[in-house]
Amino acid sequence: MAEDTRDWELETKLVRGGLARTPYGEISEALFLTQSFSYESAGAADKRFSGEEPGFIYQRFGNPTTQMFEDRLALLEGAEVCRATASGMAAVHVALQGLVRAGDHIVAGRALFGSCRWILSEWMPRFGVEVTYVDATDLDAWKNAVRPNTKAFLVESPANPLLEVTAIGAVAEIAHAAGAKLVVDNVFATPVFQKPLALGADIVVYSATKHIDGQGRVLGGAILGAEQLMTESYKDILRHTGPALSPFNAWVLLKGLETLELRVTRQAQNAAKIADVIAAHSKAKKVLYPTRPDHPQAAIIANQMTGGGNVVAFDLGSREAAWRFLDTLEIVDISNNLGDAKSMATHPCTTTHRSMPEAERLEIGLTEGWVRMSVGLEGPGDLTRDVNRALDAA
Ligand SMILES: *Cc1c(COP(=O)(O)O)cnc(C)c1O
Repeated sequence: MAEDTRDWELETKLVRGGLARTPYGEISEALFLTQSFSYESAGAADKRFSGEEPGFIYQRFGNPTTQMFEDRLALLEGAEVCRATASGMAAVHVALQGLVRAGDHIVAGRALFGSCRWILSEWMPRFGVEVTYVDATDLDAWKNAVRPNTKAFLVESPANPLLEVTAIGAVAEIAHAAGAKLVVDNVFATPVFQKPLALGADIVVYSATKHIDGQGRVLGGAILGAEQLMTESYKDILRHTGPALSPFNAWVLLKGLETLELRVTRQAQNAAKIADVIAAHSKAKKVLYPTRPDHPQAAIIANQMTGGGNVVAFDLGSREAAWRFLDTLEIVDISNNLGDAKSMATHPCTTTHRSMPEAERLEIGLTEGWVRMSVGLEGPGDLTRDVNRALDAA
């Protein structure tokens, strides 16, 4: 009997999902670096364009390598459809823009990646779309923010940079009762540790730039959801506005998926260890990591995540202490990326979140002493030594 790939274990999906071999029987996925495709006859072109016959037309619409990436990620996520985009921000932008018209309203968790906040605060209002921010941990706040014209909810969980966690199922119910769709930015959890669609979300978005590449090479993104919603809301905007992922980048990301589970599992082990090392040091005022029992949303995390991810946030009390910590690191890089094999740490107030007004930073608890660390794949002993030395200096 033919294998149903949806029944495969996660690891098998990551290595073999979406594989579409050419007659050459290549083991590694083929890279189709082609913009367009030829047709056997004018009649065949006609049928391809009308949709009567399947097949590729133009790279902006689809490409065999890109489709392997989309099919593999869809299988992993348990989504009917995945559409790849050139970056995570293209994914977030299209995911929201496809759900709203002038006069509509979006509700979003207030702790968000900086560019997502720009789309909501600066870009959407230009097209007559209103936005309300809420404390994403407060279910009443979501309920109270709903208006008759609310069409979309956006939440990032765990959120950047302080790893605030939202009860995805409960927020999905509020969204659906309001006739709105819930979009979840699942970057921090990765597809390995959290499945927002199974929890009730309508759309999941990724920056594949982060853990899916995981080796610092290419940008990429993805939007996933049920076929009807994906077709109605996104098919045309993706075709006609051009946020297509390069097949070369899709190929790199396909190879990244093969090792995703191995990498993020090890990264999460390292991150849990580093979080405990930091918590045990006298210089740390506070440490946040999703699987620590002192995380404020530990109960929700136990319900919806199967691992803590690779990001740790900690408060050293002042900007001076945070900067001394960063400047003393010898192995860990100072960098704003995350999910990479190489560990890196950043000072959110002066980098990733510098464009966020101070009052809003304070609302999410982001004061000058916080450091965000993305824990990589180096040896845990070396990382512990580097972090302890930097904490001593802080
Ligand atoms: C990085 C990131 C994005 C944006 O992704 P790019 O690939 O850099 O465009 C969006 N959301 C979150 C949570 C991210 O970490």
